[in-house]
Parts: sequence; C-alpha cells; structure tokens
Amino acid sequence: MAQSVQFYSTNHSAAPVNFGEALLQGLAPDKGLYMPEHIPTFAEEEIREFSTKTYAEIAYAVFSKFFAGDIPAETLKVLCEDAYNFDIPLEQVYGKKYIMRLDQGPTASFKDFAGRAMGRLMQYFLNQKGEHKLILTATSGDTGSAVAHAFYDLPTIRVAILFPKDEVTPRQRKQMTTLQKNIHVLAIDGKFDDAQAMVKEAFSDKDLAYLQLTSANSINIGRLIPQAVYYFYAYSRLAKFPENITFCIPSGNFGDMMGCVIAREMGLPVGKILIASNANNEFERMLKTQKYSKIEPSIDCLSSAMNVGHPSNLARLVELYGGNMDEKGNLLKQPDFAAMNRDFFAISVSDEETKETIKTAWNKYNVMLEPHGAVGWKCVEDYISTLQSFENELIVSLETAHPAKFPDAIRENIGIDPELPASLQGIEEKPEKYDNIAGNYTAFKAYLLKNL
Ligand SMILES: *Cc1c(COP(=O)(O)O)cnc(C)c1O
Repeated sequence: MAQSVQFYSTNHSAAPVNFGEALLQGLAPDKGLYMPEHIPTFAEEEIREFSTKTYAEIAYAVFSKFFAGDIPAETLKVLCEDAYNFDIPLEQVYGKKYIMRLDQGPTASFKDFAGRAMGRLMQYFLNQKGEHKLILTATSGDTGSAVAHAFYDLPTIRVAILFPKDEVTPRQRKQMTTLQKNIHVLAIDGKFDDAQAMVKEAFSDKDLAYLQLTSANSINIGRLIPQAVYYFYAYSRLAKFPENITFCIPSGNFGDMMGCVIAREMGLPVGKILIASNANNEFERMLKTQKYSKIEPSIDCLSSAMNVGHPSNLARLVELYGGNMDEKGNLLKQPDFAAMNRDFFAISVSDEETKETIKTAWNKYNVMLEPHGAVGWKCVEDYISTLQSFENELIVSLETAHPAKFPDAIRENIGIDPELPASLQGIEEKPEKYDNIAGNYTAFKAYLLKNL
C-alpha cells in the first residue's frame, strides 16, 4: 500500500528522486522541474467519500497517494490537521455558479495552502536527515509574507527575506517584520530587481555553501500537490459523482492551474479548466497560435500577483500534453494542442474590465471581489456566453486573495472599505524588527556571514 511516487526532471538529465528530495532540492540539478513519473488515481468510491471528510482529511488522502511511503501515516495526519485549521468558504453567486474563497489563511492569500504544508513537510524531511536549510527570498510585497508565515518557528529552517525599502506598503512590511524568531527581514536601499539579483548571486557563491541555501518559489513540486486538494474539496461539497465540475483559475505562474490538472489526472471529474490572465496573455496566445513567446518585460496590471510574462510551470503542463519546453521557454517538442484546446478555455482580462467586474459582481450579486478574483469571474462570464445552455453547468471560480489586501481597488469601485480578516487584525500594534542594508551584494554577503 505505502508506495511512493518517483519524480523526474522535465530536462530529462537528472536522476529520479522521491518526494522528500524533490521538495528539499526545489530545482532539479539539470535546471529542470520535478514531475511525478505517474500520477496516482482515486477510485470512484474514494472520491464519493470525500463528502463526509474534513479538508484536512482530504489533504491527507491526496498526500498519501504521492508519498505515503516516505512519512509515517500518523505524522502526516497530524501535519494536515495542523496546517489546515481555517475555513474555505464556497459562496454562491447564482444557481450552480460559486466563488471559492481561498483567503482565510494567515496571510489572506491562497499561497497559504501550499506554504503551510510545504513548511511542515520540509521540516519533517530535514529532521530525518539531520540537516538544516536557509531559505532566501526577494519580495516586492506578498511572496515574502507567505514564505515567512509558512516557515515561521520551524527549528531546522531559517528564512532571510529582502525587500526594497521604499516599494512595499506598511501593511505588507508588518506582515513580515512582526514575526521575528527564525524570520530575518532585510530592507535594502534599492529596487526589487536589486534584491532579486542579490539573492541570485548568493545561490552561486561557494563561500555560502555552508548555509544550505534553498528557495521556496513555485518551481517547487511541494507547492503543487497541496494545491490539488481544494479542487477535491470544492467537488466534495458541491457535486455528486460523476457530475463534471468546471474551475476558473486566475493565473500568473500557473502553479494553481497545475494543482487543478493534477486533481483531474487523479480522477476528479473536471469539465473545462478556465484560465484567466490579465494583459500577460502568453498562454492564451500559445493555445491560439501553437507557438510560444514570453512577454518581456511583463506588463504591470491591477492584478499584480499575476504579472508574469513567462510562467515557470508551463514546462510542466507542456510535458503532461506530450511536449517539451526548456527552462528558457523554447518549445523543443510540440504538445498535443488539440487536446489542450479541448481541456482549457483561456482569456485575457484588461484592467478596465477588472474594475467593471468588481462593480458588477457587487451591484448584481452582492459578491465582493478583489482584482485577481475579478479577473477570474470575468472569465467565467465570457465562458458562459459561449455556451448554448449554462444553467446545469457547475462552475467554481477561485478568489485567491482577501479584498482587504487591495483596499484601494475596492474603495474606488464600490465605495466600501473592506474589513480586515481576523488574521490581519492587530498587526498595526505589534513590534517590528528588521535590518537595513545597502543595495549591493557585498553588503548582503557580509550580513549573511556575520548573522546567519
Ligand atoms: C500568486 C497569486 C496568483 C497566481 O497564482 P499562480 O499559481 O502563480 O498562477 C493569483 N492571485 C494571487 C492573489 C496570488 O498571490
């Protein structure tokens, strides 16, 4: 029973590894992305039984399929209970159309779902090996806080976050600097690009090898498997097997979409997958033209977490459809585009349409959406307009952040100040701690050598 899936690299020149290794390594040694050699499936009966299970129990069932042999069952159960102790509201818009709010975690973003499992799993595998890691992250705002909360207070892991001192909001800064303990936060005198360059240089600096540096961004397979779980959850609460369900996913790096594809491959009856992008529409273009080109530099949009001109997870999707894409975005082998066009519906939503959708969702349905969720709902409306009849189609659109994280967009479009979720309340009063350093690598290296 307790078998484990092996993971191979999309560049096909690294040895396959088990889940724990893939998780700790992040990127494969040949710079490819780890993918499961096969995707395990659920029996129909198992999927039916999810309707009586809690979110944590469904997470346990999904994780077990991939790495039951690598971690004791009881440990994994407790880990899931501990990681998933918050609500996942499914809000009806009308009929069989719903919004799934993935914004009740500690940083009020869907990235908490992956982060909380990933931090705990890394901790477990590091303990087994008697090793430790230092996670380096550059942030322009939201990634930093999600990473900080995911790894907070874990004894084998330390985190160093660099942010450009004038480019994050006070609320974003406080989400990182009020944690302390194993979370080290550095304000640099420079831009986001400087912070990112400093982190990159540290990874290739041999003097720092003793620090066991690693990263926690969406190239890590540990982000994707936890993101398959909420698709099963939505199905278990809203559908009856074998009814189909359609999901709409506001997308940037396509980690969230890969979670849905994994759920489908595991046996979830997914109808269409709707991919909602902002002006960074390289995927929509690829489906239409069967050619791929990135958008460089990426376009600044209201839904800022989706400003991605070359999604790192695209190589994984291409692989699943029988093609191959290298880390630079070259399509070395064409995927089955006919199958992709059958399975996906992709559109690009402008900032004007995003604002309009924030207004209409509120005025027509009393549903409050922030910019990322509004891009998603607009995509649902466009998709519905292509259908002959839509009443019977079950559609769930993902809301990936809490409206209170984007108070200006909400205020300007519907004239309301969104209430802070419980997780963000009280943050204004907590004491902050962070260090200031110059915006160059010499200063950063000296800081790491002295303090970590
Ligand atoms: C990261 C993020 C996205 C995009 O998710 P991907 O997995 O990168 O496609 C969408 N919305 C919000 C609020 C995000 O933080």
